[in-house]
Amino acid sequence: MRLVLLGAPGSGKGTQCALIKNKFDIVQVSTGDLFRDNVKNNTPLGLQAKKFMDAGQLVPNEIVQNMLASKLDELGDKSFMLDGFPRTLAQAEFLDDYLARNNKPLNAVIFFDVDDKEIITRLSKRLTCKSCGKIHNQNYSECPSCGGELFKRDDDNEETVKNRLKVFHENNNALLDFYRNKGLLHVIKAVGSPDVIFERVSDIL
Ligand code: AMP
Repeated sequence: MRLVLLGAPGSGKGTQCALIKNKFDIVQVSTGDLFRDNVKNNTPLGLQAKKFMDAGQLVPNEIVQNMLASKLDELGDKSFMLDGFPRTLAQAEFLDDYLARNNKPLNAVIFFDVDDKEIITRLSKRLTCKSCGKIHNQNYSECPSCGGELFKRDDDNEETVKNRLKVFHENNNALLDFYRNKGLLHVIKAVGSPDVIFERVSDIL
């Protein structure tokens, strides 16, 4: 199975990926996570990406596309879901071309539909667990799942969130049209508890 998950930052893609992984044998490929790992490890790629991430801007296509292609090459024939890629029409076209060349067509594209007001509320509260990686939208003092330490992402501050949403809206309609025209697009109203949203995702899968 090969999936693309689309949606604004904070629309719940990461949370749903965790639930999908529990039920299906499928690898999550999150370009945001790959960049954050590179930043943490001070790699040349991380150094290139950090200034764009801190400003809430997209990392240039060439950098993200090369990183994604090597990750997908590594995966061989495994099932995967893409979280955070593509973000632009050019990236979608690149992916389409890569997958066609490798004979690995997509099975579905799921768009998590959430309005901006809800996104801003969610991201202002978003905390991630250092130990288990779970994402929480409430002000816990420690991870309610494993007791691990929680941290706020550098780019979840108001100014950067506004930029990330602006960039999202500049690109999103073209992406939705691209996948709608291919007959791959599923739109899910992504407001409600993660379990309820996951039922909608499972129905599609
Ligand atoms: P995310 O965790 O998906 O919100 O991504 C965090 C940041 O990483 C984004 O704000 C971008 O700066 C960068 N990034 C992640 N994925 C992409 C992508 N597909 N294209 C360009 N930049 C990306």
